[in-house]
Amino acid sequence: MSEVCVIIGASHAAAQLSASLRTEGWEGEILVIGDEAYFPYHRPPLSKTFLSGEKTIEQIQIRPAAFYEKQNIQFKLNTRIEAIDREKKSLTLSSGETLQYDKLALCTGSRPRILTLEGSQLPGVHYLRTAADIEGIQSDIAPGKKAVIVGGGYIGLETAAALRKLGLEVTVLEMMDRVLQRVTAPEISAFYHRVHTEEGVDIKTGTAIRAIEGNGKVEGVILDDQSRLDADLVIIGAGILPNVELAEKAGLEVDNGILVDELAKTSDPDIVAAGDCTNFPNPLFGKRMRLESVPNAMEQSRSAAASICGKEKVYAAQPWFWSDQYDTKLQIAGLSEGYDQVVIRGDYEQSRSFVAWYLKDGKLLAADCVNRGKEFMTAKKLIQSGVEVDATKLADDSIDPKELLP
Ligand SMILES: Cc1cc2nc3c(=O)[nH]c(=O)nc-3n(C[C@H](O)[C@H](O)[C@H](O)COP(=O)(O)OP(=O)(O)OC[C@H]3O[C@@H](n4cnc5c(N)ncnc54)[C@H](O)[C@@H]3O)c2cc1C
Repeated sequence: MSEVCVIIGASHAAAQLSASLRTEGWEGEILVIGDEAYFPYHRPPLSKTFLSGEKTIEQIQIRPAAFYEKQNIQFKLNTRIEAIDREKKSLTLSSGETLQYDKLALCTGSRPRILTLEGSQLPGVHYLRTAADIEGIQSDIAPGKKAVIVGGGYIGLETAAALRKLGLEVTVLEMMDRVLQRVTAPEISAFYHRVHTEEGVDIKTGTAIRAIEGNGKVEGVILDDQSRLDADLVIIGAGILPNVELAEKAGLEVDNGILVDELAKTSDPDIVAAGDCTNFPNPLFGKRMRLESVPNAMEQSRSAAASICGKEKVYAAQPWFWSDQYDTKLQIAGLSEGYDQVVIRGDYEQSRSFVAWYLKDGKLLAADCVNRGKEFMTAKKLIQSGVEVDATKLADDSIDPKELLP
């Protein structure tokens, strides 16, 4: 009998891992089990073109169903795995059925942090993680309706942009002093605050939500200063948590993510994990990290697939990320954590095209590039090279980005 590799979760990591298993030479069965209703789809468009109605679920699928059929990759959708028995190498499904595995891949991703304030159970309160979440939002929106978004992170801001496009009145509530405070320099926060204000979004920083009110449905929100805002719907983007409980219950090591090594192996030799749910050592940084991004899920899945096939493919990638809002494309290279200097190229106060370079000890750690594709490519190379950079040249917009390279 051929061996069986089961993949839990059917999203970015699973789509890549299943495909990579075939390219790495896995000849046994591949079964992907996910609790959503759809084949793996691109999650980033959810807060962008899927929410705005420009794309359908078919148009955002990562691969067509025919691809999986051709590669003999089986799916069981609408199915949750409730437990893993590592000794018996068996899984308990939500249907009560059990299944045997030879190799197991955990691609369980993450879920939104749920707010437990008064009124948070009312119809009209939404989260933003799955296509089903967006379908719920879509049934509540119409031009002129009032939306309150809780959280001024990337997802909250992208949602604000999509809802403005659809003609809603949008308020963003951010607890901290500025939007994107956790992840960017003040200049980037100021830029997005300005752009959203220009587009008609009301951003309230230093403002927390205390309760949601309504008679059978959302009608308003109460802020921490006791003031009230009318609202027809509330969308909560208050961060995410890794889905580690299944692994933890099975006795795998977990610490802010499922602990894996640089080959995506867990503490069980027959179980790998990849994507948002993992905490992995990044040799480029000399430390462990947990990332929430598509490139991370895909790259790490390639290592996980190789490990299942008995090969070694170290995962040591430079993180990168992007965010689309209105006519601005932000591309982020590297991780800015720990920077000691920010250098700006371009005019972030007036225009919609500039770069924030993050330096530490004279070397480039990261760059936020707004509508600056060339600088983004240059930044990736500069970060990788680890050479000292000339801050004056980085700031000088008349110098071609290519000339910044050593
Ligand atoms: C609205 C939105 C916008 C985003 N925009 C960007 C962006 O612009 N750029 C970017 O790089 N990243 C973006 N991200 C983040 C990116 O989507 C994630 O990093 C990526 O989806 C991670 O993929 P994953 O496969 O690890 O996990 P997930 O996509 O979280 O998928 C995990 C899947 O496993 C399922 N699952 C969990 N437990 C079980 C179980 N026990 N049984 C069965 N199934 C289970 C989950 O329901 C889910 O379907 C965005 C995310 C969201 C929500």
